[in-house]
Amino acid sequence: MRILADFHTHTRYSHGCGSIEDNVKAAIKKGLKAIGISEHGPANIGIGPTLDDFKKMKKEIEDLRGKYTNIKILFGCEANVISVDGKLDLPEKLLNELDYVMVGLHPMVWCRSLKDFCHIFFENFAAKRIIKLKSKVIEQNTRALINVLKNYRVHIITHPGLHVPIDTAALADAAASCGTAMEINAGHGYMTQGYVRIAKSYGVKFVIGSDAHSPEKVGEMERGIEIAIKGGLTEEDIINANANWEEILWRKTRDL
Ligand SMILES: [Zn+2]
Ligand SMILES: [Zn+2]
Repeated sequence: MRILADFHTHTRYSHGCGSIEDNVKAAIKKGLKAIGISEHGPANIGIGPTLDDFKKMKKEIEDLRGKYTNIKILFGCEANVISVDGKLDLPEKLLNELDYVMVGLHPMVWCRSLKDFCHIFFENFAAKRIIKLKSKVIEQNTRALINVLKNYRVHIITHPGLHVPIDTAALADAAASCGTAMEINAGHGYMTQGYVRIAKSYGVKFVIGSDAHSPEKVGEMERGIEIAIKGGLTEEDIINANANWEEILWRKTRDL
């Protein structure tokens, strides 16, 4: 299995250690056909780029497209969920300017309200110790992500189940309906092969992403490929293993 595009890479704009150009060069070296720059949204505590940084990234990417014509350079994001009713931390106008939108549920974010912070940060943290909270947070985390899918056009959900537990079946069902892919994160080794099997049974599409935080990790997909194969996936199931990945990534099926 060969992965042709890496949609999930970070740079110094958040807590990565290379520039956008470093990631592009690394992707060319690895023989990728496309590289996506997918910075965190501004709500990540301590590391989120500002909206102004997103403007700078856009300009940088446009310039690099002129300089490196042998690879597609995509402008994406890894937006944060900041409320259980499914609000993201990037304005709709900016989301519409991006080539693709990825969403990750991260607990360490500035939420829209204290109540949401309590649900997304505190309860997930507490559920690691208090067993009876677990089913509440699974339902809540899953509902938050499904609400995001109802509110926005999302192309990829990053590392479902990492950091916070979710109901993989319910999320895969919703994602399959609206044409959103689920990511197998090669950097973190998540989703696991067991979750991949569950998700596949709902007909959802997958992508494998490196989640590179340094240029050397761009295009490093081995762990993700291994999970995919053990989880019973073929090239057909994985968008960025397909020569026509562009057509599949941007295809929308229906609203929830
Ligand atoms: Zn993430
Ligand atoms: Zn990431």
